[in-house]
Amino acid sequence: MIDLLALTAERDAPAADDLARCVHCGLCLENCPTYLETGKETESPRGRIHLIQALQEGRIEATGAFTQHIDRCLVCRACEAVCPSGVPFGRIMEAARADLKERREPVWTNRFTYWLLFKKLLPNRRRLRALASGLRWYQRSGLQHAVRASGVLASLPATLGQMERSMPSLPDHFFEAEGHFLPALGPARYRVGFFSGCVMPLAYGPVHEATIRVLRRNGCDVVVPRVQACCGALNVHSGERMMARELARRNVRAFLDLDVDYVVVNSAGCGSTLKEYAELLAGDPLWREWAERFGSRVRDVSELLVDLPFQQGLGPVRRRVTLQESCHLVHAQRVKAPPRALLAAIPELELVDMAHPDNCCGSAGIYSFAQPELSNQILDTRMAEVRATSADLIVTSNPGCMLQLQAGLERTGQRVEVRHLIEVLDWSYQSGTGQPPSGRASL
Ligand code: SF4
Ligand code: SF4
Repeated sequence: MIDLLALTAERDAPAADDLARCVHCGLCLENCPTYLETGKETESPRGRIHLIQALQEGRIEATGAFTQHIDRCLVCRACEAVCPSGVPFGRIMEAARADLKERREPVWTNRFTYWLLFKKLLPNRRRLRALASGLRWYQRSGLQHAVRASGVLASLPATLGQMERSMPSLPDHFFEAEGHFLPALGPARYRVGFFSGCVMPLAYGPVHEATIRVLRRNGCDVVVPRVQACCGALNVHSGERMMARELARRNVRAFLDLDVDYVVVNSAGCGSTLKEYAELLAGDPLWREWAERFGSRVRDVSELLVDLPFQQGLGPVRRRVTLQESCHLVHAQRVKAPPRALLAAIPELELVDMAHPDNCCGSAGIYSFAQPELSNQILDTRMAEVRATSADLIVTSNPGCMLQLQAGLERTGQRVEVRHLIEVLDWSYQSGTGQPPSGRASL
């Protein structure tokens, strides 16, 4: 049994060694969505590294303009994936934001928003659930319709208006399997812990249910620990590393105590953060070791399924599909082939690639709310590529991408559906076996 240790006040700043690895070759520029949209060196990976280095060496001040260049990075890590020098851009940017947070003059509205979101809501699943229940009532009671028709949203700050418009339509029920053990259908090959997360069980409970059905069908005993916490990804990306460390410790303890073969996650952003807990806890040798053990067991659900290998019995799904590769799966975790292998195994499914399936959609955690203008610009580029495929279904692996793509389709008036990859695999299993449709009772 592992006990939580007292929190340590670890000071974060980008490491000089990491920054020095950039040789300023510029090979990453054409992969950077913010550079492609703006054409500015200061909105490119190379430019940002240069700025961060200059700040660390005391050659410049953290002015408003500096902060804006750092804040406008999506942390999509497309630059990291193509860098020949192995510059760990994600690690640099996350540390730079934590450092910047210490240096910035606190603006009370930002402080309040951060305190509410990162310290009171995301880490507390009971409060999140109560909020989601209230929002569902707002959506179903007719109040949302009245608010939207009244035009009042236009008078709200842009961030609030964008949040309201991007809110997913909350499902009839939330994911309720925390604390449950769900045995494999047939002989068990593995015992896996299922990472549920904070927003997914509320906004995308049916995706969790589909994931568990597919895992059980593929010989996995599934344990869903009740005491798990939010992964802390949004905290890490925003420089709130103190709370992120506390959440990491909670999750490491919850899953190591279960003694599972794998920890399975279906959200690319969460998976990337879970795999990198050892970096987050690097200042604490004991926790770092536990986090390494934990991280070595984390698998995206697509990664685990292709390694099993997954069972046949898949039936036809007659759809024209395009795949939006989630940045934190393809760039951060470098998991590219498994989602494609799963789609290729589904009979009669037609996969039509966009011109740049691995370019960011502009979601990036809270980026679409914090930087609505640039986020929408990036999203419009994606939507034009979607339109060119004539697909009727976009498949992706991250809740943030699902939300953003849905918003983009509404914004550009396209009648295309957005689904998580695992939902499409679940449909395929059901059409191949005559199983009942997905739902709460069919976990
Ligand atoms: S981050 Fe990598 S690819 Fe980009 S300029 Fe530096 S060394 Fe070149
Ligand atoms: S993380 Fe993404 S947005 Fe940020 S510099 Fe790299 S490629 Fe550009």
